Amino acid sequence: MRLLIVEDDAPLASGLRRILEAEGHAVDVTSRGEQAVLAAAQERFDLVILDIGLPQMDGFEVLRRLRAGSPEKNGPMPVLVLTARDAVDDRVRGLDLGADDYMVKPFAMPELTARVRALLRRSQAHGGPRIVHGPLALDTVARRAFLKNEPLERAAREWAVLEVLLGKVEKIVSKEAIIQAVAGWGDDLSPNAIEVYVSRLRSKLEPAGIKIRTVRGFGYMLEEFKGS
Ligand code: CA
Repeated sequence: MRLLIVEDDAPLASGLRRILEAEGHAVDVTSRGEQAVLAAAQERFDLVILDIGLPQMDGFEVLRRLRAGSPEKNGPMPVLVLTARDAVDDRVRGLDLGADDYMVKPFAMPELTARVRALLRRSQAHGGPRIVHGPLALDTVARRAFLKNEPLERAAREWAVLEVLLGKVEKIVSKEAIIQAVAGWGDDLSPNAIEVYVSRLRSKLEPAGIKIRTVRGFGYMLEEFKGS
């Protein structure tokens, strides 16, 4: 999943980023409301974590603009609002403006990740969070993969690469497109890194008959499953 964090408290923002990346998400961070509105207009995010107290354009205005756009175009985009402890009215106002949930600072990280999972589960409920490809099944909300019904060990980045390829079975996906889907803004992912992730995935999946073909000089293609 692709997440956007809008938070001007740098240590908090980087803590959130680290924890959510560890859960396998691609995470972008900005401290500016204006940039968040721009980014959401141009890219698709599965969830936005939005601080209310931001310099210049505050979180309320960001939320108002996000909801004034055409949200249905790209499916639901849940917004989790972060408010200061002494600002009770902020929660009400945030919910009125279309926030899906709120958390009051300071909060415990496990609670935040639980809320994030719940919001993603809710927003994915209609899309079918399970992707099945032969003996491989991905639960895209619980972030678990199963191969022949056995849990499949995978690093967060491998998961993201696999998710991209599974979305385009029998279609060639360029390395650039994979980097785009997997990396957040701050990341510096090289095509070589993508090769490493793909080769790790191959070593796990090929014994089960799942083939990722290399399209020389361009990218990869997950072949249709034809049995092992
Ligand atoms: Ca703030």
